[in-house]
Amino acid sequence: MECVFQFINKLKFRCIYVTLSTGSGKTTTLYSLLNETSHMFHRNVITLEDPIEKENDLVLQVQVNEKAGVSYSAGLKAILRHDPDIIMVGEIRDAETAKIAVRAALTGHLVLSTMHTRDAQGAVYRLAEFGVNMMEIEQTLVAVTAQRLVELNCPYCEGECSPFCYGYGRWKRASVFELLAGRALNASIKKARGEGSLVKYRTLKEVITKGIALGYIKDTEYSRWVQDNAEI
Ligand SMILES: [Zn+2]
Repeated sequence: MECVFQFINKLKFRCIYVTLSTGSGKTTTLYSLLNETSHMFHRNVITLEDPIEKENDLVLQVQVNEKAGVSYSAGLKAILRHDPDIIMVGEIRDAETAKIAVRAALTGHLVLSTMHTRDAQGAVYRLAEFGVNMMEIEQTLVAVTAQRLVELNCPYCEGECSPFCYGYGRWKRASVFELLAGRALNASIKKARGEGSLVKYRTLKEVITKGIALGYIKDTEYSRWVQDNAEI
C-alpha cells in the first residue's frame, strides 16, 4: 500500500486502476487512495458508485441508479460538468464509461477506478477491448494494481487459535498486491500492441507463492487463487 501512495504522490493527474474481483479489498484500497489524494492535494472529489459502500463526509458521493437513468456513463458525464479534480468511478464495465473516463483523464482529472480482470496487465487489454486506443492508454494510464485478500497463518500456534493469539493481535487476513507502473506498464502497453516481449514485474502469483514459502500465508490460498482466476 505504501508504494501505491508514494506512486500517487509523484503522478500527474491521470488514471489509476485497481483490478480484480469483489472481496479482494479493492473498495478499501480505493477509499484509502481517495482520502490520501484529497488530503494531499486539497482537491475536490466526486465519486460515482454502485452501491455506495462507505459513507464519507469529505467527498461528494453519487449513487448509480439505472432505473432513474443514472448509469455509470450518464453519471460520469454529469459529474464532469462540475469539473472535480478527482473522480472515483466504482467500476468501468462498458465501452462508453471507459471512453469518458479516459477523456476525463486526458483533460486533467485524476480518475480512480476498478475493473474486473485477471491481473494488472488485464486492465490494458480490457481498455483496448472497450475501444480505447493504445495511444490514449499510454497517455492516461499511470498505474494498475491487482490485489487479493489472503488468509494468514497464525504466528503463535499451529492453527487452533486460543484467546492468547487474539490477545497478541494476530491478523487473520491481509491484502497482497501487484503494482504495474513505470517501465513495466510501458512494456505491457507495447506488448498489447504486439511490439514488445516479456514484461517483468512482481505478480500476485509470485507474491502469494513467496508468502506461502515463508510461512506467512496459508497453503490453501494458492489453489483458491488459481480456482478464482479460472472463473474470471
Ligand atoms: Zn493462533
